Amino acid sequence: MENSTSIRVWSYDEEYDELRDEIIGAVDRVFRSGRLLFGRELDGFESEFSKWLGMRHTFGVANGTDALRIALMALGVSSDDDVITVSSTAVPTVSAIREVGANPVFVDISLDDYNIDVSQVEEAITKKTKCIICVHLYGQPANIVELKKIAKCNDLYLIEDCAQSHGAKFGHEKVGTFGDISCFSFYPTKILGGYGDSGACVTNCDKLAERIKMIRFYGMREQYFSEIEGINSRMDEVHAAILLIKLKYLDQDLQRRKYIAEFYDSRIENNLILKSRTFCDREHAYYLYVIRCKQRDELMSYMAQNGVLLNISYPWPVHTMPPFSKYSYLDLPNSNTLSKEVLSLPMYPKLTDQKLEQVVGLINAFK
Ligand SMILES: *Cc1c(COP(=O)(O)O)cnc(C)c1O
Repeated sequence: MENSTSIRVWSYDEEYDELRDEIIGAVDRVFRSGRLLFGRELDGFESEFSKWLGMRHTFGVANGTDALRIALMALGVSSDDDVITVSSTAVPTVSAIREVGANPVFVDISLDDYNIDVSQVEEAITKKTKCIICVHLYGQPANIVELKKIAKCNDLYLIEDCAQSHGAKFGHEKVGTFGDISCFSFYPTKILGGYGDSGACVTNCDKLAERIKMIRFYGMREQYFSEIEGINSRMDEVHAAILLIKLKYLDQDLQRRKYIAEFYDSRIENNLILKSRTFCDREHAYYLYVIRCKQRDELMSYMAQNGVLLNISYPWPVHTMPPFSKYSYLDLPNSNTLSKEVLSLPMYPKLTDQKLEQVVGLINAFK
């Protein structure tokens, strides 16, 4: 029953109706400015995003995967270095590691927070380990304070993959403020999403900032002299202008996501469904609201028959997919369990209370 009245996990229709005039106005302003790249809009977005996060430097790039690749390049991670991360993540976390020729070292997750099990990190460190990439999956902060201690004690760099966690907090600090470099994606579905691809690298270190800025621009400080190995990865003026608009509504959007999560938390009651944990010292940003259900296939088709189309993030741990087949022997039981049971419920700021009631009513009636 896939039609226009279906309830989906994500939709931007209502948002665009509301922001249309502002967005079209911004696009027109850019097109008339005569400056399509590296202009006022990018400068504006970079400084506003830095301010919002409480960091010194933001650099807009073409997408979140590039942000991770550039972060690794800036830290000097290359061929044959080991990078510790999780298999229970979006593929790009891992493909960015491979893009610089380094090798992912997969650590299992904890089923408490669905993030890296910090108690297993130290035993994964080898002589070749150079860096840890910490993913805050679904918007739930990982135990970044403990991870930062481990990185420091073992002389490793720490990158935060914040593609799903704009606005999440550990203690009183936003995630993205703990790592040497933090990487964001502004892919349309993300908590701060554009109308196309873009991403950003964030850092407090002036030296790393200088390298990131050159790496995204062919390794150049000035045209046309390349000083270090670089790539081309730009956030264009149109996207920067749209994200500047969306950034104004980000805190209000985060509040609405929290409201929706609390609605699900308090109203879903079904023994077949396991809700996610919340922690008193962490603020979840709710990119996704995930549940676990052993009868996931049945639940999904029952919901679809009733007009609610759910998604799985993610059905396969990265190490079980063909490009990473040399890791297929790994035993990561919690990552496997999550991939078999996890399911995302509708979650976006413009989701109405009426639709929420409908989703909860259906979930609670599932047998
Ligand atoms: C979306 C995402 C990325 C990649 O972002 P793109 O902008 O799609 O390249 C990286 N890591 C995680 C965890 C993501 O969810």
